[in-house]
Amino acid sequence: MTTTTSSPLTSLRALVPHRIVEFGEALQIAEQQARRLIDLIADVDGVNELHIARMPRIKIVREDLPVSGMSYWNGQQWVIALSRNESQTRQRFTLLHEFKHIVDHGSTARLYPGNKRQSGEQQAEAAADYFAGCALVGKRELKSAWGNRIQRVEDLAHHFNVSFEAIRVRLAQTGLDVVADKLPTPRCARPVSTPRYQVQRFRTARPRYAQRRYA
Ligand SMILES: [Zn+2]
Repeated sequence: MTTTTSSPLTSLRALVPHRIVEFGEALQIAEQQARRLIDLIADVDGVNELHIARMPRIKIVREDLPVSGMSYWNGQQWVIALSRNESQTRQRFTLLHEFKHIVDHGSTARLYPGNKRQSGEQQAEAAADYFAGCALVGKRELKSAWGNRIQRVEDLAHHFNVSFEAIRVRLAQTGLDVVADKLPTPRCARPVSTPRYQVQRFRTARPRYAQRRYA
């Protein structure tokens, strides 16, 4: 911890403006909060359960749940309940997802007013997933691992202690999957309409997924 006066919750909540925001901005705020959490914790192995459990007025329990997790205020402290039957990597992701709901407490109306495509609740869920991904696989840390030639999904998942799917999503969100897609030699070249007096020209064909980007 870098501060003695404010809890991480207070510090993360301070990043939320006192006005209604568009969903794109809510996601940016989630990423900034994840960044601040990583920096506050400053552990080379990333954010883990103990870091959250040590925070004031937060308790983590494991139960038989019909869902992956839930969080609630019990009158004295925040309780994060995780399904004991799920994998460690999934529980870790769920923990950060639930933690974001706690961070958001008191500002959900401003952050997630809903729009034509998504209800406020759906926005809050998407933002909690985004926060968890950013907190467990920080953009800076992912690019650093990539630069150190840890580039296969399996190796990155092991490095960050998250699921393959979490890595795929983060690669897409950070644009590194586009780099990955471009690495192999293009499979074939397609003829381009060329005036007869010129030598036939070609363009390389790329699969459509090379252009894939998450919003
Ligand atoms: Zn949720």
